[in-house]
Amino acid sequence: MSEKFDCIVVGAGPAGIACAYEVAKGGGKVLLIERGEYPGSKNVMGGVLYRKMMEDIIPGFYKDAPLERPIAEQRFMMVDKESALTFGYKGLEWMQEPYNNFTVLRAKFDQWFAAKAVEQGALLINETVVLECIVEDGKVIGVKTDRPDGEVYADVVVLADGVNSLLAKSLGFHKEFKPDEVALATMEILKLDRKIIEDRFNLEGDQGCTIEIFGDATKGILGTGFLYTNKDSLSIGVGTLLSGLIKHKIKPYELLEYVKNHPMIRPYIQGSEPQEYLAHLIPEGGYHSMPKVVGHGVIVVGDAAQLVNAFIEKGLTLP
Ligand SMILES: Cc1cc2nc3c(=O)[nH]c(=O)nc-3n(C[C@H](O)[C@H](O)[C@H](O)COP(=O)(O)OP(=O)(O)OC[C@H]3O[C@@H](n4cnc5c(N)ncnc54)[C@H](O)[C@@H]3O)c2cc1C
Repeated sequence: MSEKFDCIVVGAGPAGIACAYEVAKGGGKVLLIERGEYPGSKNVMGGVLYRKMMEDIIPGFYKDAPLERPIAEQRFMMVDKESALTFGYKGLEWMQEPYNNFTVLRAKFDQWFAAKAVEQGALLINETVVLECIVEDGKVIGVKTDRPDGEVYADVVVLADGVNSLLAKSLGFHKEFKPDEVALATMEILKLDRKIIEDRFNLEGDQGCTIEIFGDATKGILGTGFLYTNKDSLSIGVGTLLSGLIKHKIKPYELLEYVKNHPMIRPYIQGSEPQEYLAHLIPEGGYHSMPKVVGHGVIVVGDAAQLVNAFIEKGLTLP
């Protein structure tokens, strides 16, 4: 590897793939480097993808993408120890094209999205870790990977390497997070028969439902829980500020167990089987904790730039 590209993108999460897609579509020679076995293999998300922003990139993507369910109903549940106040909105217009939002499983969705970038002409290399940026006279001119002779060069390097961007850190763009600038979220994907999901959540056919959970689900720590319907699985999780977990001396997996066993939530997941267990940080410091995002020859995007709507914990597509 010693070829020169117009652009090297580090990290094939949605931010990196979107960037590689656009550069390739515009005729640029772009290299997309991912350390995972395939895009999506290392990525964590509750699973709500809003249509609008994705459609700005690929119009009509929902006709082709591996989506779980279009969301017909969004519920909000305020829970106490033994009671809950639930309100929400169900609208059949959300079940018609062009839809509003969808549940997705990242292992499938990111692979599909990356294939679209490759179709546009991006070169995707998996199972390759970028170790550092190559800097010459104050300008980033390429990256060094863990492959033999793995130095590659480009006019621009895009850092889309996720929330804990070690590369942006090594360039001095940001320091360690403070515990009140980042949330730790744990989640499980629970296998459940499709028919049971539809009966339990009052859904017809492909309709999907999301429940955002507040209050006792986080034992009073700033954060939220969530329960989303996929085709034949549920995604359940909880995310709270690290500072809250430290202050209340609660371990994240204990909090997830608490949510799963909460009497207002347990009936929804009864009889399901754990399929995947995932945990990840979410940048929640907002505008004032954003790192420097542009340098000479380098730009930082996505979670690495802390571009997340902390209120709703959505970073994939900011609604
Ligand atoms: C539990 C949970 C639930 C969430 N729910 C939602 C939701 O419902 N909707 C929503 O919109 N957002 C949600 N988010 C936030 C969303 O997942 C992130 O904002 C989004 O994944 C950020 O995308 P990204 O491309 O910036 O980073 P990532 O998806 O983190 O991608 C970064 C990629 O870079 C790769 N990488 C890192 N370092 C290197 C390196 N040195 N060399 C090569 N590759 C590297 C990683 O393997 C990874 O694939 C949730 C997050 C969590 C944790």
